[in-house]
Parts: sequence; C-alpha cells; structure tokens
Amino acid sequence: MRKELFSLTTVCLASLFLSIQVTSAEEQVDIDKNWILVSLHLHTMDNPGYHHSPFNPNPPISYSVEGFHDIAAQARSAGVKGLVFTDHHSVGIGFDPVFSQTKDLILVLGMEWTSKDGHMNLVRYHPQSPRDILLPPDPSERQPTEPYAYPSVISEVQRRGGIAIINHPESPNHRWPENTFRADAVEVYNGPCSHISFWQRRLKESIKITAVGGSDYHSWDVFKKRPISPQRNSVVRPVNLVWTGGERSPEAILDGIRQGRVVVLSSPAAPRIFLRVDRNLDDKFEDGREGDTLRFSRGRKAQVSMQIRVVDGAEGVLELIDRGDVFKTLPVTQSEFVHELNYTVHPDPNGFLYNFVRAQVRRDGELAISNPIYLESAP
Ligand SMILES: [Zn+2]
Ligand SMILES: [Zn+2]
Repeated sequence: MRKELFSLTTVCLASLFLSIQVTSAEEQVDIDKNWILVSLHLHTMDNPGYHHSPFNPNPPISYSVEGFHDIAAQARSAGVKGLVFTDHHSVGIGFDPVFSQTKDLILVLGMEWTSKDGHMNLVRYHPQSPRDILLPPDPSERQPTEPYAYPSVISEVQRRGGIAIINHPESPNHRWPENTFRADAVEVYNGPCSHISFWQRRLKESIKITAVGGSDYHSWDVFKKRPISPQRNSVVRPVNLVWTGGERSPEAILDGIRQGRVVVLSSPAAPRIFLRVDRNLDDKFEDGREGDTLRFSRGRKAQVSMQIRVVDGAEGVLELIDRGDVFKTLPVTQSEFVHELNYTVHPDPNGFLYNFVRAQVRRDGELAISNPIYLESAP
C-alpha cells in the first residue's frame, strides 16, 4: 500500500441505521475456508548478547531449533496455521533442515532489523544464505539511526519480493519516526502493548498501512536452556486472522497483509470481525472488504453501505472509527451479529475526499481490530 496525499480538511457526515441478522452457514464456511490464523514476530531464542552482535562468527547460535519446536507446538495447539520467524539480525532458522522438514505449518522466513531508533521485520525477501542479512548502519543500536536507512532497506526488501513491518513504533526505547517510509504494515499490538495511536495518526494523514499484531515471543533461554516462562509471553498473544482466499502458502499470507485483509486478535479466543461493502446500494455486500479502497468522482459526495459482522462477540462492545476517531459505539447483542452502516463523506472545498472506516470489538478483556475500508477521490 502506498501513501497518497489528499487534503486534510475533508468534511465527514455519517448517518446510520441498524439491523440485526444471523450469520448464515454460508458465511461461516467462507470464514473457515478463506481466513487462517497467523502468528507474527517470533524469535526462536532469547539471547540479548546476539542481539548486539550481528556479526557473531558462530552462526548456529543465532537461532535455536529447540525454540523453533516450542513455537511450533504452541501454534499447533492453538490452531495457528502460519508462523513468521524473525530472529534478531538472523535468518539462520530458515536454512536449518527443521524448517524445510516441517510440512504441517506454513513457515515464513524473516528477520528483525534492530536500530536505535526503530525496529522492523523484514519478511520473505528471499535471502540466499544465512549471512544474507540486511543490517541498519549501526546494528549495535548505539548511534542514532540516519533517516535514509529506513526507506533504503524497505525498498530493498520490497524489490526482493518481501514486505516490511514496523515493530512496536511507540516503544520508549526504540521509538519509530512519525513516518512509515512506505512500509507495508505496522504492529498495532506488540505482545500486550498497544501501538494503535501511531497507526491511527498515520491513517488520519491519508497513509494506508496494514495493521498487524506481533507476539514478539522469544522462545529459547540460552542460559537456562529452556523456553522462557509462558507467563511472560505467548506465541498467540496477539495473533492475526489473515485472508488467503483458500490458498495455503507463504505468498498468500504476504498478499493478505499487503492488501490489508487482516484482523488483529488479542488471542485466538477473541471475537472475529469482518467488513463488507455495498457500493451500488443493491443490498448485496459484495463490492469490497477490509483493506479495499473505494474511489469516487472528485467533487461529489461519497455514499456507501457497509456491513460489520461480529462473530462470537455476544455481550461485547462494537466501536466504529473513522478519521474523527470513534463515531459510534454499540452493544453486541448476540453471538452472531451484523450491523449495517450508511456512511456519507462530503468532499472538501477543493473537491477532494478522503476517509476510512474501521471497526473493533471488545469482549471479556479480548479485542479484535479490523483493517479499514478506505474512501477517496479518484485520481
Ligand atoms: Zn523489536
Ligand atoms: Zn522482536
């Protein structure tokens, strides 16, 4: 997804109507077939020493097979199908036989790029060897990160067919600049920590970037020779529901993330939430879904009908959010719940319009966050 600039003064008026329906069996089949659980941002080992020594001359200690097995076992027991491995400055696990021998999970290889002023996951850039790693100018994280470093490595990853995901952008120790540098995605949750406000600020600036959740699970404790305490962290908190259209491959996971077809879940126990669009107002919600951009003639108001479907969210609270933040809050009254929204955006005085609608649902301490549907002027 790419940054596109529009006037920041678009006027929005949203009008609403509510109807409640039951999710059909057909729609449940669609969820089961097309969406899979994917855990992002996984470290096979917990070794701070390696973190600061990316040129370590002993590559085997840059990853842990024991940690890999620990992560795979947690994923299997939670129903997670896809795993994205991102050791610090290392792609070693992808070249270990255990990686190619594991057939029952979709394994995606990446690495975490760790600079003083920001971390990101560089995913599936097709490294040619364990030493084919992409480093920041100062991997020791002592020197301030030069501004050129971000876009140069992001464009290199994308040129090689991969994606770049900004990690924990509001982390006090590794704060990311107020810019996405055209990265593909950003963590809105890193473990239990919210980074939603960074994402919401970018959305308000008309920057499209996919929200994902990263567990940042560090598995193998190299000193105690066992996985780190499960109380401290988990492979599936948070986890992502990614639309793969029935495909089961690393590329399908990347495509789902690129297209913004991701629902961030605080854990597999969270409710599910899905967005659909009826653009031509024929009462069929077949004209778009989360991550899609709807373009309208310049100078005219945009009117669109959206369906927000919440599954397993009974007694939860649904929030609808646009450029003006939360514009509607309503209770989820049954386990299969549909809200229909009539949404109108008026152009600014120059004829441009830009807005987005996203939804999130909270229930029993769990949270599910949809990616937005974007509305904007045609070029
Ligand atoms: Zn990090
Ligand atoms: Zn990490």
